[in-house]
This record gives sequence, C-alpha cells and structure tokens, in this order.
Amino acid sequence: TTQPLDDTSSEALQVLHRVFGYDSFRGEQQDIIETVVGGGDALVLMPTGGGKSLCYQIPALVRSGVGVVISPLIALMQDQVDALTALGVRAGFLNSTQDYEQRREVEQAFLSGELDLLYLAPERLRVEQTVRLLDQGKISLFAIDEAHCVSQWGHDFRPDYLMLSELHERWPDVPRIALTATATEATHREIATRLNLAEAKHFVASFDRPNIQYRIVPKDNPQRQLLDLLRTEHAGDAGIVYCLSRNSVEKTATFLTQNGIEAVPYHAGLDSRMRAKHQSRFLREDGLVVVATIAFGMGIDKPDVRFVAHLDLPKSVEGYYQETGRAGRDGLPSTAWLAYGLQDVVQQRKMIDTSEGDAAHRRRLGTHLDAMLALCETVQCRRQQLLAYFGQTGAVGRGMNATQDGEPCGNCDTCLTPPESWDGTIAAQKLLSTVYRLQHERNQKFGAGQVIDILLGKVTPKVSQFRHDELTVFGIGTELKDTEWRGVVRQLLAQRLLAVEGDYGTLLLTDDSAEVLGRRRDVMMRREPERVGRSSRSSGG
Ligand code: ADP
Ligand code: ZN
Repeated sequence: TTQPLDDTSSEALQVLHRVFGYDSFRGEQQDIIETVVGGGDALVLMPTGGGKSLCYQIPALVRSGVGVVISPLIALMQDQVDALTALGVRAGFLNSTQDYEQRREVEQAFLSGELDLLYLAPERLRVEQTVRLLDQGKISLFAIDEAHCVSQWGHDFRPDYLMLSELHERWPDVPRIALTATATEATHREIATRLNLAEAKHFVASFDRPNIQYRIVPKDNPQRQLLDLLRTEHAGDAGIVYCLSRNSVEKTATFLTQNGIEAVPYHAGLDSRMRAKHQSRFLREDGLVVVATIAFGMGIDKPDVRFVAHLDLPKSVEGYYQETGRAGRDGLPSTAWLAYGLQDVVQQRKMIDTSEGDAAHRRRLGTHLDAMLALCETVQCRRQQLLAYFGQTGAVGRGMNATQDGEPCGNCDTCLTPPESWDGTIAAQKLLSTVYRLQHERNQKFGAGQVIDILLGKVTPKVSQFRHDELTVFGIGTELKDTEWRGVVRQLLAQRLLAVEGDYGTLLLTDDSAEVLGRRRDVMMRREPERVGRSSRSSGG
C-alpha cells in the first residue's frame, strides 16, 4: 500500500486526474494548492507556461463556494470559460462586453451556488452592485491574476488593481492567491505590500526557460534579417514578431506576406473584429506568424509558438522576458530573437524625455531602458544576465542544458558563439573627445551619424557646412568601419559613458565620460561574432 495522503492533497490530486486529466503536479503546484485549500494566502511567482491557472482552479473546486478570479484580460475570459466548461467546470464571467441579460444570468448562477469559478475584470469591483452581489454569495477564494498590474514600478500598471487591497478587509476569511509571471525583487515586494499579503506564503519558481534560445543581433536591415531567420530556421513555424509602432507592424506583415510567409498584423488601431479574427487564427492554425505591437499576447496560451522576434528594442527587461516567454510553452526548442540598433536607443530616450509623469517616473523608465541595453551589450551569457536581473543567480540550466550553478547556459548567442571582447578604450576616447570638442569648441550638439562621419573623415555636405573638417579630431577614427563605430556608441550608451537626448538623438557626455577622457578608466567592448545559426549575413544596411 502507499502512504496515506492527507485529505487535502488526495482530493486535489483526484481533481487533477478527474477534471484536468493530468498525472501529477508540476513544480510547486501541490504546495500552493494545499496552502489555499487550507485557507491560507499565497503569492505565486511563476514564469509563463508554468501552470499558474491550476493553482487557483483546483482549490476553487475543492473548497466550497465560488472562486472569484480577478483578471485584466477581458478579451480572454470567454475563451477561459469555454475551456473550463469543456472540462465540466462550471464557470462564468462578468465584464463590460456583456449585455444586461447575460450579466443577470451569471449573477443568478453565482447566487444559487451553480458556479465553481467567476472571472471578474478589476473595474467591476468599483461598482457597488458587484460588491453587494459578492456579499450575497459564498466565495471560496480570490485569485488575483497578473498581480504585477498593481505595481507602479512595473511596466503594466492598472489603477483598478490598487482597490484589490480592500478584498482582505471586506472578506477577511476568504483566502487570496496572487499570481504573476513578473519577478523582479521590487515588483515582488510591491505586490506583497499593496495587496496586503503580509501573511501570505511566497512561492517563487525558477524563471529559467531552458528551451528558449536567446539571441540579440545588431540591426542592419531588420526585415531582411528577420526573413533570413524565418526561412533558414523557422520555415512553417508559428511565431510572434513584435514591432514598436502600428505602422511598422503593418509594413512588416506586408513584407513577410510578399515574401511567401503567412503573416497577419495585430495592433490597437485595427477594429476589434479584425483583432479577434487574427488572434483566433493564430491560436487555431498551424504556422501562422502574427506581427504585433505589445498589445498582443498577454494571456495567450498557444503551446507551440516556435519563435518570438523583436524588431525594436523592448522598453524593459520585464517586458522582454514576458514577450519572449510566449515562445516554447510546450518545452520544445524555441528562439527568442531581437534585432537592436542605435536608433532604438535614440527613439526610446526621446519617448522617455517626452513621456507624461514626473521626473521620478522618467528616471524609472530610464533605469528600465539601461537594464535592457546592458542585456543587449553583455559579453556574458544572456540567460545568466536575465536571471540575475530577476534576482535568480545560479538558477541557470536546471532543464535541458543542465550545468553547474552559475555556469553559462550553452543555449544563447553569447554562449554558442562567444563575442570577442576588445579593448575599446582608445576608440571610446576618440569618440568622446569628438563629442567634447563639438560641445565645447563649437557649442554644438550632433547625433551619432555626424560624429561618426567626423571620425571617419568623410566630407559630406553637412560636414562642410559646419566646417567640421577643420576639427582636430576630423578623420582620426579610420581604423573602424561605420558599423563598428555605431557599436561603440551603443556600448558607451549601455555603460552610461555617453547619453543621448532629443528629437535628433544628440550625443552628450555624462559624469563618467571624464574618467575615460582622463584615461582613468578602460573600456572593454563587445565585438560582434558571425551570426548564430545558418542564416547568412544580409547585405544592405
Ligand atoms: P501560466 O498561467 O502559468 O502561463 P497555464 O496555467 O496556462 O500557465 O499552464 C500552461 C500549460 O501547462 C497549460 O496547457 C496547462 O494545461 C499545462 N499544465 C499545467 N499544470 C500541469 C500539470 N500538472 N501537468 C500537465 N500539464 C499542466
Ligand atoms: Zn548562455
């Protein structure tokens, strides 16, 4: 005979078998479920695809009453409810997309105890009627999905989430479980504080996604580079391509289609019918590529997304991690590919400089961007750096590329084709002194293009116009090519030895620049290796 299981775990296990058809729990699911079934609060940090849903669905089925799930993903509620209904779970939702009749029906079912799970948009709780409704029924638990939306520090803040701190005061006996796939220390702490989860048990899973191969390449001709990648490594695969603007989404989707790759656009400018259509095609068809702004993907559960490509730099490491995390939920090898260039930095700086909000907010955005740049320019294992950002050092490689704690992963571009690092001190001095001379001898500010033309000694109309060929630094940098100088600029930006501002991306010295100019500091730089994979180097640029 087997060891006797206590009631909680045996009941939860039965539900896992009977309702969901799975053999065993994954990771910490069982502990989490037992905590909530036992009436305790839980804060769950688990990567996308880790299996968060069962952590509240099973307790909702085991405990008596209705499990109330707060989720910002209104567009997905119907799908979630349909999926549960298909399993024989009694589920419903209340959100702004319903008419009066539909809402009444769900409310009736809730009141008469005919529901196991009720999905609610957070803004519903602002409506007194909803609160009264909840008071009249029996609630088994509150699940707060996408809990990072409560964090003002994070990238996805939703003001309505702040009200969720009141759940505990109003329903002190109802256990709460907050779940998120965002895991920086700061967000973690903020969720615990803002949601009043002081007593909660914390469950932090490893954020490593060993089957995802991380690659970050310098941008020259992004659409061509993307096409290369898709043709050589991902022919016929489903994937997501992220672009920053609606315009580039449209253009890229058209470009792919013209080149024989089935691709559809997705962004907030499309009408909702079109968006829903493209989303459901992506979920149901094989090998469709969605080109999208980051409006696409939150909560989308498609297991066989083989690649996520970024044609523009994400605004933060959190965003990058979440977006790339949509690849390979089925555990099979997948690619996270990002092309990034100097123009991205210029553009994002500009967006930060002109963003609404106070100085502290802009500083925060700047910190996010800096961390993202550092990830792009690292000569170390990308995975290590990514996990270190989430406070998970030594967590690399528990999966298919098992390595010792803290060792490089073997499944990212810097591990597979290590970039050489080279002593860029002299190059840095040349570039910074050009910026210095423009600023101090001429009282001028210029972008990277002009600074590099000066270093290369190019007599362009603009160089002649400003008599930049008379500067002592004119032509002192011919040992590097234009693209290499762009790499130098990016890396100086990433190391905060140089700053960029304004509409034209003008370059400025920073407090630390003086250390390089004064030869008190060496600057190591990354030399780009030949591309990973079979893709050929594209021309143009
Ligand atoms: P998350 O919400 O963390 O992104 P999901 O809850 O959507 O993840 O789960 C991801 C996938 O893993 C789903 O297809 C789910 O059915 C599956 N899954 C979750 N738990 C288990 C388990 N114990 N055994 C097998 N499959 C599971
Ligand atoms: Zn690595």
